[in-house]
Amino acid sequence: MAVFAGFGIMFFALMLLLGLLYFMAHVLFALAAYHDAQAQGNPDALVWGLAIGILGFIPGIIYLCIRGSGRRLVRCPNCGYPHDAVDFCCPKCGEKNSPAPKADPYQQVLAERARKELIGGIVVIAAGVLVTILAVIFFSFSIMGSWKLF
Ligand SMILES: [Zn+2]
Repeated sequence: MAVFAGFGIMFFALMLLLGLLYFMAHVLFALAAYHDAQAQGNPDALVWGLAIGILGFIPGIIYLCIRGSGRRLVRCPNCGYPHDAVDFCCPKCGEKNSPAPKADPYQQVLAERARKELIGGIVVIAAGVLVTILAVIFFSFSIMGSWKLF
């Protein structure tokens, strides 16, 4: 009986650990999408971050599919009005939109942060899978071991 109680506690601890890892992966992927969308000038960065943070992988996959194909905003160098990167000129003041805007260091920082968060999320998922495999192996050996006792 004590053996089974021990199993129960270990199983509960394992579920807690996996839940925590899953939650961490969620948060990391949400942050990655948020910063990646910001780096790309996507006006819906916060919406994507929240959608992935709350709903998980389905909006994540959708985000990866539409990433880069969506609207991209740039700020007019003259008046600061945000408009589509493909616009020939600023719709507010008529300033010519440079076809190849200089790389924004802030956007590069965001892109780098998004990359690290994405890698972090993948590492956490990998850790979760590894823990699950180890737990399955451990539980199978334990159950086989306890069978041999009887
Ligand atoms: Zn302008």
